[in-house]
Amino acid sequence: MARLVMKFGGTSVADVERIKNVAAHVKREVDAGHEVAVVVSAMSGKTNELVGWVNEAARLHDAREYDTVVASGEQVTVGLLSIALQEIGVAARSWLGWQIPIRTNGAHSTARIADIDGQALIERLEQGQVAVVAGFQGLGPDNRITTLGRGGSDTSAVAIAAAVKADRCDIYTDVDGVYTTDPRIVAKARRLDKISYEEMLEMASLGAKVLQTRSVELAMVHGVRLQVRSSFDPPDAPQGTGEGANYVGPGTIVCGEDEIVEQAVVSGIAYTKDEAKITVQKVADQPGVAAKIFGPLAEASINVDMIVQDVSEEDKRTDVTFSVPASDLARAEDVLRRAKDDIGFEELKSDTDVVKVSIIGVGMRSHVGVAQKMFQTLAEKGINIQVISTSEIKVSVLIGAEYTELAVRALHSAYGLDAA
Ligand code: ADP
Ligand code: ASP
Ligand code: MG
Repeated sequence: MARLVMKFGGTSVADVERIKNVAAHVKREVDAGHEVAVVVSAMSGKTNELVGWVNEAARLHDAREYDTVVASGEQVTVGLLSIALQEIGVAARSWLGWQIPIRTNGAHSTARIADIDGQALIERLEQGQVAVVAGFQGLGPDNRITTLGRGGSDTSAVAIAAAVKADRCDIYTDVDGVYTTDPRIVAKARRLDKISYEEMLEMASLGAKVLQTRSVELAMVHGVRLQVRSSFDPPDAPQGTGEGANYVGPGTIVCGEDEIVEQAVVSGIAYTKDEAKITVQKVADQPGVAAKIFGPLAEASINVDMIVQDVSEEDKRTDVTFSVPASDLARAEDVLRRAKDDIGFEELKSDTDVVKVSIIGVGMRSHVGVAQKMFQTLAEKGINIQVISTSEIKVSVLIGAEYTELAVRALHSAYGLDAA
């Protein structure tokens, strides 16, 4: 007997028929003798619709009321799934974030889970009742409803798994695992049997939305074994075998690096269009200028990602180019314009038609020439690199958005990742 957390995303609970399919997956595990907590998202498209309504009501709105509205999608699916489970003879009840409670900090719309008391859930699980928990939502310090950021149900699932000391957390979605890159844009993407927490964390934070970044962070910290698998596999299809580290399942296991025998130099490629480029033109090339540019941005909590400074010409003036999240572009420009006299730049240019493409792999720690191959591959395709950034296990480049698919496909082949 094991204790499992099963998480189902939006497309897996898109309508009542799909919810009945989820109930069948849950029943299978209950019938196998396991204790099960389920975490569900809102029906696909629902959260977008709710966000749209909030923006329609007022462009600038109270973040606490935003959370009250957008958290409601998950209330519908926990209720429906509990009913569908009861209907097929499985004891179940729904749990909203505040009823457990899932305590978060007060950062409305991007809250972080602070603490979950798993005791009440554990008691019910031990009595054989399935706990159906609303993803994405929690309770802030002021007792108001909070939400965990888009894709946050993954994080709810991992946090619940840690709180009830689950043996595994299965993330059911619309693909059957983690691929070497987004299978929707590269037909030759390959499903990985295993991926390390470190690599998955980079993949997620660099754009692979199959898992929310924070969920991987939490899984790594608490040692929660994750499996990404498909809810579209028939509920009665063959299941995994073995236990713990010997478990082999139908999906991708996210686990410690030590468990992975064969380590590729580059394991995956990610991309994100959620970046914007800013160039601060003709600033003095002297000590203190970078601090004057990036200080005000940091004070405004704007996360600067990649940075490049051009070589100055004879007049000792230079251009500084960097990227920020696209959603922060307007604010970043405003902050810089207000600091114009202090920074002493001539002009400010911005571009949202950019994409960040990244290669990821722990093997980079012990191999040289990995970045060079990336630059060479892009050069051969005539793709200009605008900004570069690197860390221990990834290299990212900012390029024109029109080259996204060409770049990802070319790199996928160049690093030998294409499926046979
Ligand atoms: P859910 O609604 O179940 O949470 P998401 O839409 O958030 O599902 O995440 C699943 C999607 O992530 C897939 O449909 C796929 O297009 C995308 N994706 C991006 N990169 C990857 C990758 N490397 N491996 C698998 N899926 C990926
Ligand atoms: N329903 C939320 C969203 O669409 C949370 C999730 O699906 O993970 O972002
Ligand atoms: Mg998701």
